[in-house]
Amino acid sequence: MNPHVECGRHSGIPECCIQWFVTAWSNYVYINSDLRNKYLLVNDNVGYIRCPTCIANRSVIKIKECDCYVEEKEN
Ligand SMILES: [Zn+2]
Ligand SMILES: [Zn+2]
Repeated sequence: MNPHVECGRHSGIPECCIQWFVTAWSNYVYINSDLRNKYLLVNDNVGYIRCPTCIANRSVIKIKECDCYVEEKEN
């Protein structure tokens, strides 16, 4: 399982945003720095990458702490 997907779910990120992150964001937006910067502006500093639908709806969730990163640091 993709760690972004797993930890996205642990953090409470909506499934729509997770799916958008692992598809359009990773394959298309992230690799284009102009597009990426524009997207990050509209995404706002919410702590995770929102999908276009959540941005349009101004839907923001509060990120929960995920233990996975703690375990990674200890290793
Ligand atoms: Zn996790
Ligand atoms: Zn979403």
